[in-house]
Amino acid sequence: MILMLNNYAADQWVAATGGAVPILSAIDGSTVAETGSQGLDFKAMADHARGVGGPALRAMTFHERAWMLKALAQAIMARKEELYALSASTGATRQDSWIDIEGGAGTLFAMSSKGRRELPDDVILIDGEIEPIGKRGSFIGQHVYTSLKGVAVHINAFNFPVWGMLEKLGPTLLAGVPAIVKPGTATAHLTEAAVRIMTEAGVLPAGAVQLIAGSVGDLLDHLTCQDVVSFTGSAATSIKLQSHPVIARETVRFIAERDSLNASILGPDAGPDSPEFDLFIGEVVNEMTVKAGQKCTAIRRAFVPAQWLDAAEAALRQRLGEVVVGDPSVEGVTMGALAGQAQLDDVRANARAIASQARLVFGDLNTVDAKGVAAGQGAFITPLLFRADDPWAADIVHDVEAFGPVSTLMPYRDLDDAIGLANRGLGSLVISFFTHDPLIARQFVLGVGAFHGRIVMIDRDSARESTGHGSPLPSLVHGGPGRAGGGEEMGGVRGVKHYMQRTALQGSPRTLSGVIDRWLPGAPQDDAGPHPFRLRFGELRIGKTFRTAPRTVTIEDIEHFAEFTGDKFYAHMDEEAAAANPFFPGRVAHGYLILSFAAGLFVDPAPGPVLANTGLDKLRFVKPLVPGEAMKVALTVKAKTRRNDDYGEVRWAVTVTDGGDDTVATYELLTMNAI
Ligand code: NAP
Repeated sequence: MILMLNNYAADQWVAATGGAVPILSAIDGSTVAETGSQGLDFKAMADHARGVGGPALRAMTFHERAWMLKALAQAIMARKEELYALSASTGATRQDSWIDIEGGAGTLFAMSSKGRRELPDDVILIDGEIEPIGKRGSFIGQHVYTSLKGVAVHINAFNFPVWGMLEKLGPTLLAGVPAIVKPGTATAHLTEAAVRIMTEAGVLPAGAVQLIAGSVGDLLDHLTCQDVVSFTGSAATSIKLQSHPVIARETVRFIAERDSLNASILGPDAGPDSPEFDLFIGEVVNEMTVKAGQKCTAIRRAFVPAQWLDAAEAALRQRLGEVVVGDPSVEGVTMGALAGQAQLDDVRANARAIASQARLVFGDLNTVDAKGVAAGQGAFITPLLFRADDPWAADIVHDVEAFGPVSTLMPYRDLDDAIGLANRGLGSLVISFFTHDPLIARQFVLGVGAFHGRIVMIDRDSARESTGHGSPLPSLVHGGPGRAGGGEEMGGVRGVKHYMQRTALQGSPRTLSGVIDRWLPGAPQDDAGPHPFRLRFGELRIGKTFRTAPRTVTIEDIEHFAEFTGDKFYAHMDEEAAAANPFFPGRVAHGYLILSFAAGLFVDPAPGPVLANTGLDKLRFVKPLVPGEAMKVALTVKAKTRRNDDYGEVRWAVTVTDGGDDTVATYELLTMNAI
C-alpha cells in the first residue's frame, strides 16, 4: 500500500495539489509513500505560527511546556510500534530504529526533566547574577532571556527522521517558540507519522507545530529577525540556504549542523594487548555499521600509532567479516541498507574518490551478498574499510564524506602528528580518543579542542557505561566548528537559549526585581505582618522579610560547639595560633556555629506551612565573628518555584550581620512549603 503523505498546515492535514514525489523502499525499491507540498501557502503557515502558536506557547511557563514535552514523548512511546513498522522500509535494523524512535522520545523526556529542574516556573529566564553598576547599588544590570516572537524552521536530514525532528523540537517548544518541520524527503513518511502521533496526543497548542512534507517553497522569503532556521544536512545545501538573501538581510538566526570528517584515535599508550585497543576496534566497526554508517557523527577517519597499523587493520577486518548485511527483518542481519538508491550512488561515488588515494582493505564497492534480498535489489553495500599509509598526502580522506559504512584507517607518528591529522578535517562534530593515560588525554584535548564539538575519551574504566563515539546526548552540546557547520544544538538548557533573545536590563533593584519576579539586594523588603514561616507558599510575596533579634556569641558557645561537634580547629580554640593566621584577629566562631545560631534565630518552631529545609546555596563567610560580638539575621523571600500541586520551593536570601551591621555571612536557603 502506498501512503499518501500530508502536510500539517495551520492545524489541518493538507494534501499537496500535485507534483507528488515517490519515497522508495530501501529494501526492494518499491514505492512506499508519495509526498509533496505543492499548493501550500508557506507565508500563511509562518503567519499562523507567529500569530497563533507563539502566543499560545508563550502563555505557558517553562514548566508547563516541559510537561507538554513529557506528554509528547509518552505518546511516541505508546505508539512506537507504528513507527518501527515504517522504519523498516528505510533500511534500518531494529537497533537503528531504536536510536531514532526511542532515542528521539528519550531526548524529549530528558529535555522535559531539565526544563522542570533547571528552568523557572516562569516565562523569563535569568542569565547570571546581577551586575553592580552604580556605587550606591541603586542602578544595576541583569541579563535575561525572553522567547523569540517568530517561528523556527527545522530543516532536517533524512537519516534520523524521528530523533532529528525531536532533538530540535524539544528545545524550541521549551523556549516557547512554534516550529515548522521539514524532514528529508527520503524518510518523510516516518516524520509524518510521528507528527500525527504528537498532534493526536492533544497536548500541543494550536499552531505550535506544522509539517511540510516536501519542498519548503518560498517559506524562507518570509522570514524575519525573530525567526530561526535550524538546518541539518550537507554542507552544499547549508551554504545555499545560508546565502539566501532574506536570511542575510534580516539576520535570521541560522543553526547549521553539517557533515564532518569525524576521527577516532587510538592513543600512543594503547598497544594491541591493551583493553583500549579492543575498545577502539569495536567502536570503529560499530560506527561504520550502525545505521549503515549514515550518521553525521560516524567515524570516517581512524588513526593508530604507525607501529600498530597492521595489527589494527587485521583486527578491523576480522570484526567487519562478522557483519551480516541484509534485510533487517531477516534473523541474523546486523547491518541494513542505505536509505535509497540515490544515497547508494552517492556513497559509491565518494568511496571511489577515496579509492584514488587510499587502498580498499575490506569490502566491495560494486557487489554485495545481502541476506534475504534478491541480487541487485535494494540500497545495500558492504562496509568499506580503506587504508592510507601516508595520511598527509591523502587529501581526499580528510575532505570527502561518504555518508555510508565507509572509514579510512591511517597511521600517525606521535601525539602531535595525530593532533595535526585530526584537525585536518577542519572542524568536526565529534572525535574519540582511546587512552588510559589522563596526562596524554589532557595534551590531546588542548591540541584538538578548538576543532571539535565533542571529545569522547574511552578507556577500560568508562567502557561499560560509555555511550560511545556517535551518540549525541540531550544534556551535551551537539555541533561543531568549521566544516561541521559552526552550529550547536541541545546541551540541555543551552539549546533552549538558541530560540530566545538575551537582553541586558538596566534599572533600579526595585524595577528589576519586579521584572524578573525575584528579590534583588536593594529592592524593598517587607517585614510587616506575621512570621514568614506562618505563610503558605501562595501567601508568601517576593521580598517578604523577617529580621531577628541579636544574639551574642560567647567563648563558651564556641567551646561548647567545638566539644559537641569535634571541630576543634585552632582558629576556634587556640588564641595565639588563630592570631597568627592572616584571616583572623584571634579565636573566632565556627562558620557552622553561625549558621546554626542563624537557624535558631529565624526558625518559627511550631508545625506550619514550612515542610522541610532542602538545602543551602552560595554560602559565603564574609567576616569572622569574634567572641562577645552579637549576630543577627535577615531572611527574605528571594524566589518561588512551584514543584507540584501540594508544595513549592522557596528560595530565601539570608544575611547574617554583626553588631556594626557588617555582613558576616550570606547564603540562600531552600525550603519546601505547602501550597
Ligand atoms: P541534504 O541533501 O543537504 O538535505 C538536508 C535537508 O535539506 C533535507 O530536508 C532536504 O530536503 C533539505 N533541502 C535540500 N535542498 C533544499 C533547499 N534548496 N531548500 C530547503 N531545503 C532543502 O542532506 P541529507 O542528504 O538529507 O543528509 C545527509 C547529510 O546530512 C550528510 O552530509 C550528513 O553528514 C549530514 N548530517 C549532519 C548531521 C549533523 O547533526 N551535523 C546530522 C545528520 C546528517 P529534501 O530531502 O527534500 O531534499
